[in-house]
Amino acid sequence: MLLKRLRDTMARVGSPEETLGEVVRLVANEMVAEVCSIYLLRAGEVLELFATQGLNPSAVHRTRLRVGEGLVGDIAAHGRPLALDDAQRHPQYAYRPETGEEIYHSLAGVPIVRAGRVLGVLVVQNRTRRQYDEEEVETLQTIAMVMAEIVAAGHIVSPNEVQQVDGLGLLPLRIDGVQLTPGVAIGHAVLHEPRIIIQRVVAEDVGQEHVRFQEALAAVRDDVDRMLEAHDMQSGEQREILETFRMFVDDRGWRERVREAVDSGLTAEAGVQRAFDDVRIRLGQSTDPYIRERLSDLQDLSNRLLLRLTGRASTDQASQPDDMIVIARDMGPAELLDYDRARLRGLVLEEGSALSHVAIVARALDIPVVGRAPDVLSRIEPGDAIVVDGDNAQVLVRPGEDILQTVYAAIDARAERRRRFVAMRDLPSATRDQARIGLHLNAGLLVDLPHLEETGATGIGLFRTELQFMVAARMPTMAEQQQLYLAALEAVGDKTVTFRTLDIGGDKILPYMRRVEEENPALGWRAIRIGLDRPGLLRSQLRALLRAGEKRHLKIMFPMVATVDEFIRARAIVQRELAHLDRHDRERPASLALGVMVEVPSLLFEIDEIAREADFLSVGSNDLMQFLFAADRENRFVADRFDPLSAGALRALKCIADAGRKAHCPVTVCGEMGGRPIEALALIALGFRSFSMTPSSVGPIKAMTLQLNAAAARDQMDKLLADVSGIASLRPALKTFAAEHDVPL
Ligand code: PEP
Ligand code: MG
Repeated sequence: MLLKRLRDTMARVGSPEETLGEVVRLVANEMVAEVCSIYLLRAGEVLELFATQGLNPSAVHRTRLRVGEGLVGDIAAHGRPLALDDAQRHPQYAYRPETGEEIYHSLAGVPIVRAGRVLGVLVVQNRTRRQYDEEEVETLQTIAMVMAEIVAAGHIVSPNEVQQVDGLGLLPLRIDGVQLTPGVAIGHAVLHEPRIIIQRVVAEDVGQEHVRFQEALAAVRDDVDRMLEAHDMQSGEQREILETFRMFVDDRGWRERVREAVDSGLTAEAGVQRAFDDVRIRLGQSTDPYIRERLSDLQDLSNRLLLRLTGRASTDQASQPDDMIVIARDMGPAELLDYDRARLRGLVLEEGSALSHVAIVARALDIPVVGRAPDVLSRIEPGDAIVVDGDNAQVLVRPGEDILQTVYAAIDARAERRRRFVAMRDLPSATRDQARIGLHLNAGLLVDLPHLEETGATGIGLFRTELQFMVAARMPTMAEQQQLYLAALEAVGDKTVTFRTLDIGGDKILPYMRRVEEENPALGWRAIRIGLDRPGLLRSQLRALLRAGEKRHLKIMFPMVATVDEFIRARAIVQRELAHLDRHDRERPASLALGVMVEVPSLLFEIDEIAREADFLSVGSNDLMQFLFAADRENRFVADRFDPLSAGALRALKCIADAGRKAHCPVTVCGEMGGRPIEALALIALGFRSFSMTPSSVGPIKAMTLQLNAAAARDQMDKLLADVSGIASLRPALKTFAAEHDVPL
């Protein structure tokens, strides 16, 4: 009944103040309370009294409390209800004489929460020392939910003026994370998994809402059962979602919560949201990773139900802003490429690591990425102005004008640095002591090709052919593949491009290809392993490459080769394709070099043999480090645990450089290491002379190279490697070396 009256009150025309005034009168009456007040959050983290029944009317808009101050501030800061029979004896009680509240002893207050964040506080007070029971507090929570809709509509306090707080405490204006990709961008937030905003909170017909909830639950259960049956949906992660789904769907406690919320007069969708908010308030402060995971699983489940109940599709590209900053928990590379490149400015992830493929793709697109930014999804609203500052590993939410000015200055400074790099473009890339250093680009899509001209790179050292497959909705035809390869060959002109055959599997999933269930996909059926076991795909790719390379210089390399034998078998497939060309009277390439990526440690123990067999080697340091240290490059808990500049890693790398030199086999480093100045310095010191990197790294690496004396760096490296006992990483020593020799990093 109360909810119905509330809705009628809201529907009646009137100023927002009048509406709030009526709401507090109504609530005070219904709750038999002498006081009912509404405090709303304003800019500057201040809770302001907006309407009251019972307190001194002149206190409205005068009484203000900081979040965390007094009982009202405490409720907002923790996002949880409080019910006290003697409020004045509570240590947090803050007396405000202008309100005349000293005569009221008992108090019950609840946060006004929307989509997991606090917008204000609803309070009732009584003269007597009375105990509010659980049911009364729940009623207040339900009213607060309706209030949240009124507040969120933006008529009472303009959205710019509302300082938001999440359910776990204050929202900082700055969220610190880690740098996944450098650079700075300004734009507006787009939530990758958009939160569903509930339009209808109050039920017209409670019975009908119960039916809707049951139907939605059954439909979601059917969906999941279908997924479970489908063969290609049985990977570990999906299975976990399914199991969690079962856990919660069959969890009577959770269903009961929703039912009770609906019984109190909420719509099914508001009931689902309410049940989730309750659990979130109870568990949200836990730092136990297991509980946090379960909470996010429950959020996924709630979202599925909400999507059904509100009949909404999940993403609507057309309505997205022109300067998108995408906010996500985590993301695969293909998902990022789904966004319109022309409008994409930056990316913020709650998780993520620098070597994950989404970060590599983002780097290739030259957009800044901040990862491991805690709880960003619940702290940022769609449309919020956002600065992604990859350089300083922070995200600025709704920045003020002064901050924006500083950011614009940083963007200008970056552009200036770029101009300086552009000025270096045509200088030969060599160290001070005349060691030539090849600087190539990592590429994979047509958008990458103009970077060749801009950077003056020596060629394309790694063409990740799988990117074309990952962005497509279906398997690219041989003609489409050939077209892309030809475009790359034409773009490099008389420079070279090294095509890597399909490196799929692991985290590189083709949406249209059936997935094989694997316990450890990174160690699983991927790359050359698929190519050798099911040569159809590899052969058609090789055919497309050979046709594009007709009468040209063609370089092809194979990913994830673990034994010399694998390379020999791959080479045999190429030979067959060459014979096929001959049979069809097609021209062969003018030259054909076949290389191997060194990224599986077993190859280090056959390094002399592989250097003799292959025409060239390319060090995939991203994977090599992950396998060398047994530390998943995608796993944020271990991704930064080991330093590629530690003795073990450097010695492994050195044996590759040495073997290449001995066998006169050219070696390139195409992992991310080669694009980071201090690491490239170390690699030059180890004897590497050729690197392939993301386009934005070419300038900084060239600047470093031009100042470096390679022989001095080698001597220093030899000295350092001669005595490494007890030294975790050579990074500090190498940085000192760079500083002493004025080598810019
Ligand atoms: C590597 O592993 O270093 C590499 C260049 O390949 P990818 O990052 O595509 O696995
Ligand atoms: Mg690799």
